[in-house]
Amino acid sequence: METLRKPGQRGGLLAAAGPLGKPLPLTLIAAAVVVIVLSSVSSSSMLFNLTAAAVAVVFMQSYGLITGRAGVISLCQLSFAAIGAWTVGWANVHEVPGGLYVWLLLGGLVAVLAGLLIGLPALRLRGVNLAVATFAFAIALDVVFGGLSFPGQNDYNFVRRPELFDTDAAYFVFTAIVVAVIFVGLYFLDRSRLGGALVEIRHSERAAAAHGISVTKGKLAAFALSAFVAGVGGGLMAGQLGIVTAGNFSSFASVAMFAIALFVGTNNIEGAIAGGVMGAFVPVLMDAIGIPQDLASLLFGVGAIQVLRLGMSQTDLLRTQRRRKRAERNPLPPIQAPPVQVFPRQRPARIVRRGAPALEVRDLRVTFGNLVAVNDVNLVLPRGQVVGLVGPNGAGKSTLINTVTGFTGRYTGQVLLDGKPVDDLSAHRRARAGVRRSFQQLRVPTSISVGMFLQVAAGATLTRQAIDEQLALFGCPPADTPVEVVDVATRRLLEVAGLAVGRPRVLLLDEPAAGHSSDETRLLVDRLAEIPERFDTSLLLVEHDIELVRAVCDQIVVLDFGSVIASGPPEQVLSDPAVIAAYLGDSTR
Ligand code: ADP
Ligand code: MG
Repeated sequence: METLRKPGQRGGLLAAAGPLGKPLPLTLIAAAVVVIVLSSVSSSSMLFNLTAAAVAVVFMQSYGLITGRAGVISLCQLSFAAIGAWTVGWANVHEVPGGLYVWLLLGGLVAVLAGLLIGLPALRLRGVNLAVATFAFAIALDVVFGGLSFPGQNDYNFVRRPELFDTDAAYFVFTAIVVAVIFVGLYFLDRSRLGGALVEIRHSERAAAAHGISVTKGKLAAFALSAFVAGVGGGLMAGQLGIVTAGNFSSFASVAMFAIALFVGTNNIEGAIAGGVMGAFVPVLMDAIGIPQDLASLLFGVGAIQVLRLGMSQTDLLRTQRRRKRAERNPLPPIQAPPVQVFPRQRPARIVRRGAPALEVRDLRVTFGNLVAVNDVNLVLPRGQVVGLVGPNGAGKSTLINTVTGFTGRYTGQVLLDGKPVDDLSAHRRARAGVRRSFQQLRVPTSISVGMFLQVAAGATLTRQAIDEQLALFGCPPADTPVEVVDVATRRLLEVAGLAVGRPRVLLLDEPAAGHSSDETRLLVDRLAEIPERFDTSLLLVEHDIELVRAVCDQIVVLDFGSVIASGPPEQVLSDPAVIAAYLGDSTR
């Protein structure tokens, strides 16, 4: 097994790392000192720019939610800001009690409504189409707000700031406090299951669905949260300027902000701050040296294209380099895997629970055009057993798993879980009902920690102790290790560990030993054999390694050209001449 480096040990909030590896409270204190110093030494024009930068950081935090975390390209974040600002203006004119504190929240909430309104229909779309839809929304709002004056705009009814934060210096401190509160919220989001779900949705929607995550709900939550943050940002801007107009939130400004967000990587705290500072100061600087301000947008656009080319934002790039360097500096002994038995080995004597099958497949048929990939397959996975599904490449094994787990669009036949048909359920609902799977192509997001991934894959909130025990059992590195520095074979083990610890009714593994060394395969064999007893999970195992299959499986089903050509106990099936012919490859085929 490849040597893994020990990551910085941390535990609990106090020791939790903020940007640049510093603990969060320390970071907050340092930031407070900087803000207080800046607010007391800056000129009034500087204070104006600093406050604008803080507001821009809030917009960046909003992009960090929708694009940085959930991976959704949204070009209408400033429209949400406009709605927040409009609401604050309205609350000011109507003297809604509570002052700006309450108005900001109100602005955020009204923006959430807009976020859901645009999010719901847009969720049927992906990628560029979704981007276009959000841009269309932004342009539509340009038009609406262009024709409509903001509350207080015509009679110079300035938005009143809270008494405590009335001066420009104090208002800068106020915006900085709002920024900090949002950062703390994001910090906890990143450590919650929703945070993990968003990252997995960005990484692979299929993997997310396989872990029982509703991609629709996840994206909708991201739209709502990001709209809230943007709405608060818009309200803050109204408080800064006193009066805002549609021009402050144009669709083109949205796109320019998006370009900056993409370039710096706003899912990172340092990225959001850098993005806000760039957004506010680069145009000012360009103006100062006599370059047209519009060129700034061009500059950001070029940066964004660079990011799309690299597939990684600047702060992600820096973080990756830093993690690699740290890993190189602290070479540590290999991971201690628990003892493994000699391979090949005896199958464990299982307490086979008699009763209804856990999973049953009846007359399953899947076609791709003229190709019959799965041909009227019948298969039973009894509770408490491991059934091996083998067959040559292209036999239809992965298609069968895809179909059972709800990832194939159309099929005929039935899939029953504990005797109940699940054919009407979508992939993530089948996963929640207890049908979990791994993919032949590894789909583990790299930007989260090992412990976080374990929880995402389990689809459950686990105690720290449960996480540590499961990781040790499967020979995986400690919970705080970034997945990124874990080798691919261990990522496969990690995936199986995560799926199993969720204790699903049935688990379908598609070639979990692919790419493993013999040591790793031995460990995997032991763990797979234990899964039914330990987790009360029945296992369907697709595997090419016949020794592994022989060592783990109670029964074997052989597929060839989509049809079952043999099934039964391993000894019987593996000595079947038809099976041997299919495996050794008949030259006439
Ligand atoms: P296995 O996992 O046993 O190697 P697969 O289930 O991946 O086999 O593939 C079975 C057959 O179905 C192959 O001939 C493959 O080319 C075909 N196939 C699989 N998925 C698709 C798809 N999405 N579209 C068209 N053909 C497919
Ligand atoms: Mg396959």
